[in-house]
Amino acid sequence: MPPAPEILCYSAGDVNKSPALKADLHCHTHLSDGKHSPAFVIERARANQVTHLAMTDHDVSQALPEPASEHDPKLIAGVEISCLWESFEVHMVGLFVDPTNATLQTLLTQQQIRRHTRVAQIDAKLTALGTTGLLSDLVAKPAIALTRSHIADFLVANGVCKTRQKAFKTHLNRSGKLFVTAQWCCYTEAASAIKTAGGIPVLAHPGRYALNKAKLRRLLESFTAAGGEALEASYPNIAADMNQYLIQLAADNDLYLSTGSDFHDAAAQWTDVGKFPGLERTAAERGIWHHPVWVKDCGASEQ
Ligand code: AMP
Ligand code: MN
Ligand code: MN
Ligand code: MN
Repeated sequence: MPPAPEILCYSAGDVNKSPALKADLHCHTHLSDGKHSPAFVIERARANQVTHLAMTDHDVSQALPEPASEHDPKLIAGVEISCLWESFEVHMVGLFVDPTNATLQTLLTQQQIRRHTRVAQIDAKLTALGTTGLLSDLVAKPAIALTRSHIADFLVANGVCKTRQKAFKTHLNRSGKLFVTAQWCCYTEAASAIKTAGGIPVLAHPGRYALNKAKLRRLLESFTAAGGEALEASYPNIAADMNQYLIQLAADNDLYLSTGSDFHDAAAQWTDVGKFPGLERTAAERGIWHHPVWVKDCGASEQ
């Protein structure tokens, strides 16, 4: 049996090892549909030995908080933009973006307006079904981005659905009673805004889209042609063969590899900040920590 590949980014369970680099470059706070404050997520990252952390809220990018401790992970400004590729919704993470960039903020403001419009339409449908109060519930939250996740919580809290999963299945997904098609920006616009803001466009969780491998290859080609520079090849529950396929697609399109937990909620057992399978040694040579923008901001890494 060949020796197991050396793991360079350890999962959160490997507390006795102390890797030189453990980068969680995709997670959420209560500025979108995460359950916790940015300070909580940073503290959790520090406890889980994350060395580099990007908080990538849905269509929100804000100035990085001041470090509370010298032990904090290095913070990288980020965002996750919902966008359309051939009428199909995909998510694009932007890393190292300048949150004050006017082009990026204009796009994110448009996305927030789209989110508000969608929530108002869903509220009208829900009111017609006999449940009121969605809008006032959402505006009382710290979220800037209003998401279907918040609506799922409202449906559970008001006894409309028993669980969040059921809320998505019966009400919020495409065939659901409250479904409203979102009018997201085009993926080319998202990539362009991220680059204009000095950032790296990263295709988020490519294996989670309902696309066969041939279509996924086409998506990656379109993404690369639009200026995309990296894809996520390591995130929770990724299948080993998908991980290998994504590493191959990255090589074919000359893309860097990114890693992230997509953390939302500490109460969800299957996820945590810094918890995802590591990239094996060969794949880590293509790690996003070799991108010139990373090296300029964070310094060179041996991995
Ligand atoms: P939105 O961007 O407003 O459409 O909200 C989508 C968010 O809802 C995603 O970012 C996930 O965090 C969450 N989500 C999507 N589908 C499900 C599901 N089936 N169960 C639980 N959460 C989901
Ligand atoms: Mn989410
Ligand atoms: Mn996503
Ligand atoms: Mn996400």
